[in-house]
Amino acid sequence: MSRALRDSEPSEPITSDSTAGDGTRPCLAGPVGGNLTGVPIDLERIAAAVREILLAVGENPEREGLRDTPQRVARMYAELFRGLHEDPRQHLEKCFIEKYDEIVLVKGISFESLCEHHLLPFVGQAHVAYIPNGKIVGLSKLARVVEALAHRPQVQERLTEQLADLLMQELEPKGVAVIMEATHTCMTIRGIRKPTSVCTTSAMRGIFKSNLSTRTELMSLIYGSK
Ligand SMILES: [Zn+2]
Repeated sequence: MSRALRDSEPSEPITSDSTAGDGTRPCLAGPVGGNLTGVPIDLERIAAAVREILLAVGENPEREGLRDTPQRVARMYAELFRGLHEDPRQHLEKCFIEKYDEIVLVKGISFESLCEHHLLPFVGQAHVAYIPNGKIVGLSKLARVVEALAHRPQVQERLTEQLADLLMQELEPKGVAVIMEATHTCMTIRGIRKPTSVCTTSAMRGIFKSNLSTRTELMSLIYGSK
């Protein structure tokens, strides 16, 4: 049932002294760490680009209704892509020692993200579960991690895997399961136009992957026993 790629190569580690071709320093913290280069979101640059789009489609960006649109859209993108400047690991730093070792599940975490192919939203919910191995984390922190990773140009498959891998690394649990269900507006309002389609992705790690009864228990917690 999982659409997520399992055999993809991890991206190349980036050393602290490497620089990109244009002299800017690449993300030091790897693919999930966010852009720690200190380059802020350039609102003026986005606004100029939006103005160009309006001109290119034959609109008049000076007419009253559109006059503030480029700036407004720039602020919107800054909000939707704020996760690029956030390291989601910060939310998992504070853990509590607890000997609970059954499933912890936070069901129905709503999220919105932008598909990196069309920059159109995909919106849905995430079910995030783990089985602690001595360490638990505040439940709201799981939602914060979803937010940080979703607010970047994404594909749902990668988002699902990044969440699972990050929780495995940071919480060192017995297992992690992430299931995401979302409607992609690039499929509903354009292209093939299938408004009722929902894409489900899942990433199982540790005991959720190796143990069928644990996985079955999780599914009945999420979807009810059928
Ligand atoms: Zn798309």
